[in-house]
Amino acid sequence: MELNPKQLVAVEAELGAHNYKPLDVVLSRGEGIWVWDADGKRYMDCLSAYSAVNQGHCHPKIREALIEQSGRLALTSRAFHNDQLALFYQEVCELTNSHKVLPMNSGAEAVESAIKAVRKWGYEVKRVPDNQAEIIVCSDNFHGRTITIVGFSTDPAARNHFGPFAPGFKVVPFGDAEALEAAITPTTVGFLVEPIQGEAGVIIPPDGYLKQVREICSRENVVLILDEIQTGLGRTGKLLAEEHEEIEADLTLVGKALSGGFYPVSAVLSNSEVLGVLKPGQHGSTFGGNPMACAVARAALRVLIEEGMIENAEKMGDHFLDGLKSIRNNLVKEVRGRGLMLAVEFHREAGGARQYCEALRESGILCKETHVDTIRFAPPLIIDKDQIDWALERIAPVLRMQ
Ligand SMILES: *Cc1c(COP(=O)(O)O)cnc(C)c1O
Repeated sequence: MELNPKQLVAVEAELGAHNYKPLDVVLSRGEGIWVWDADGKRYMDCLSAYSAVNQGHCHPKIREALIEQSGRLALTSRAFHNDQLALFYQEVCELTNSHKVLPMNSGAEAVESAIKAVRKWGYEVKRVPDNQAEIIVCSDNFHGRTITIVGFSTDPAARNHFGPFAPGFKVVPFGDAEALEAAITPTTVGFLVEPIQGEAGVIIPPDGYLKQVREICSRENVVLILDEIQTGLGRTGKLLAEEHEEIEADLTLVGKALSGGFYPVSAVLSNSEVLGVLKPGQHGSTFGGNPMACAVARAALRVLIEEGMIENAEKMGDHFLDGLKSIRNNLVKEVRGRGLMLAVEFHREAGGARQYCEALRESGILCKETHVDTIRFAPPLIIDKDQIDWALERIAPVLRMQ
């Protein structure tokens, strides 16, 4: 039996866990920067599935890779080799200047895998006493939803009543290199940080922060782990956000757009000896590195480069940011962004960003509030100038509404 959109929403509410509060729209089709609801109404997607569809919805070349590979070989497990994995390794390493890769599925799994590898490196290479390895993280971080990860979140909604949590993490303020330096002890093995905090509301650290962090970690023999699951793969106008400060992390985590949204694919990319500590039997994933994932990721990376999406993100990001900044409203506290990772933050008196997201949906633009007061604008990286102007024409009256 077919259900109408209202019924679909009702069934979700009845049968599903209520761990999301989606906007009131039921999508049934997507192409490029556009999505359509079940009634055929078109919207510009300014969320891009939290930057998983940087390449645009249903990109034909990635889709072709998915269809082709799914008709040949979908899953072997890592008990056997497959003919896609090595090619994925080669291509992702060449592109990101990495030496080793660990393929996983979700972003949270990449984070968990990095934590495991860095702890092991701490015991076996840095010679930290057993069970004392410590990893430093930042306040307002977002790294995923597993128990370990929410255990070092500072967001009460993410962590309350999910304990007990794994020990071995210490929190310092984001954007404060001195606090990091002061927190490092002889048992510190890693520093895990987002180059720009996405879920916290597109928080951009002070200029020079990452450079300082890089220097401190090198000096103190601490592994620098950059979580680029959201900032990576073109979102900020560079392949990786670390390039804005001309640094290289020791471990880089990518996910989301690594598949262009077709399939969960993530990876830990390593420039140092860290991943080398993992030996057979010590880590794994049934689906990690499967031929479909590899074929899809290869196509997703290829179109990002071949179709100039990264340069486009830089140019269009500047245009979008200028446009958003030119919209005057006393209730807007700040407009900020880098590349096509943009945000409008409202003053508390505005009464929250949700109402603006709902009004934008009415006007044909889909975006989502992060926390209470901020709207993130992050369209697919293929957006052009006319389309941004189209969006700005609709965003302006909504941001001015009182
Ligand atoms: C989305 C995200 C994750 C988690 O990825 P999942 O695929 O949802 O597990 C981790 N870190 C950052 C910065 C993210 O944006």
